Amino acid sequence: MATTDRRNVGYGGGSDPGAPEQGASVTAGSGRRPIVGYAWAAPMTLFGLSIGAVTLLTGGRVERRHGVIEFRDGAAQRLLRLPFLRASAITVGHVIVGRDSRSIASCRGHEHGHVRQTERWGVLFMPAYFVAGVWAQLRGGHWYRDNWFERDADRYCELEWPEQ
Ligand SMILES: [Zn+2]
Repeated sequence: MATTDRRNVGYGGGSDPGAPEQGASVTAGSGRRPIVGYAWAAPMTLFGLSIGAVTLLTGGRVERRHGVIEFRDGAAQRLLRLPFLRASAITVGHVIVGRDSRSIASCRGHEHGHVRQTERWGVLFMPAYFVAGVWAQLRGGHWYRDNWFERDADRYCELEWPEQ
């Protein structure tokens, strides 16, 4: 059950406030993130921007929100419907690519969980994600649903993301 506790768990002051408590109703912060996080995730972000460029060239839209760049519509709609993806949105570095504004809004907290992971893992995020998926399979789970990175990102779903 959600509480009325509305803590700020954002990135203010460069501190790491830690993960939100399970079930707590909390509000995302100002979007300020540590510079080192942007630098460490930059190679991934560049890849995300290339997907974003294709999205824009095909009629998509872009917005900067909560310290990340969000691309949607255009080719992103078709990309995210591909059989091996089938996602509402994906996160690549400090870039979130979503089918449309509603699909991004429905999972913004989860995607910001992935942003946070990339700030910690940098270019190692993708191989680590792959290893975690294989590990989940070897333990009899699902490579995606039981992947540690997905479960970790789900802890951020309870965050509320105000319009800015
Ligand atoms: Zn995810």
